[in-house]
Amino acid sequence: MPLRQQHLRVVQKPGVTTRPNLSENPELKALSAAEEAICADLHCHSTASDGILSPAALVSRAKSRGVTLLALTDHDTVGGLPEAAAACRRQGVALVPAIEFSSRWGKRPVHIVGLDIDPNSPALREGIALRERLRRERAERIATRLEKRGFEGALKGARALAGDGVIGRPHFARWLVQQGYVEDSGRAFKRYLGAGKVADVKVEWPQLSETVACIRAANGVAVLAHPLKYNLSRTQLRSLLRDFAMAGGEAIELLCGRQNPVQTRELRQLMEAVAAELARPPLHCSLGSDFHQPEQPWRELGCVRLPEGVQPVWALLGR
Ligand code: AMP
Ligand code: MN
Ligand code: MN
Ligand code: MN
Repeated sequence: MPLRQQHLRVVQKPGVTTRPNLSENPELKALSAAEEAICADLHCHSTASDGILSPAALVSRAKSRGVTLLALTDHDTVGGLPEAAAACRRQGVALVPAIEFSSRWGKRPVHIVGLDIDPNSPALREGIALRERLRRERAERIATRLEKRGFEGALKGARALAGDGVIGRPHFARWLVQQGYVEDSGRAFKRYLGAGKVADVKVEWPQLSETVACIRAANGVAVLAHPLKYNLSRTQLRSLLRDFAMAGGEAIELLCGRQNPVQTRELRQLMEAVAAELARPPLHCSLGSDFHQPEQPWRELGCVRLPEGVQPVWALLGR
């Protein structure tokens, strides 16, 4: 049975907000079927990409923080899912098989989460393989630039920190910290890895429409990740939401990490305005911590509540 069917059983009930049907999994019976029992964190990272905790340790932490519905959304990989699935089974947490795809809206990098994807789908496999190559090539170019600056051994160091996981800029950042070149990862981005800095290597990630199509081909739900993190003006954000919905995107992360309530309200209004303009129902809403590591209290695993009146993304899971 495909992973997604094994670990996420969801029923569609006409006229009722759908929710994971936990009754088939005996360990989950205690959670009850009540909507209030769902404590969802649908965005987090493990050592399969740039997180610090192994998938199993991540699941334990989520469990201890009351999470009942968890999506592991590693960057461009599903490599952590089998371990997460086994841990979720042991701990009585419902797992949503997921991924956070690196993508592009025009020239701007954007991230698209695929929830409830079939990890074995050929389209998904292809999307992952392409990004694996892009990441490998980028890592080599980043390292060349850092090494020219005198940071010898950057590639070896970053690769060692990535281990079996996919390599990303945070591994370079952590290596720079480990070597004592910078105090913390934030400064590594600010000085070397961030936009416009010496090791800022542009990547031609697949376009948004292609990414959404790939997620849909894998039977998943495409979710626009952290819409407020792209430093867009209101007009640009509105245009991104419109393009995303028109490409077949079905949900946005209304809440991601620590967020100011005024921004959340504005994002919701923007989403509703776009729906009115396109004469269709508003996108569904997802939420997540974007947890990468302990000691970052603003991005701790756990759940926050969606505001009244929005359609939760879990209504779309298990189709
Ligand atoms: P990559 O996926 O390799 O392009 O790297 C992007 C990741 O780097 C994000 O998912 C964050 O985990 C991390 N990141 C981005 N900007 C910063 C920053 N300013 N400080 C620390 N980490 C960052
Ligand atoms: Mn990350
Ligand atoms: Mn992201
Ligand atoms: Mn993320």
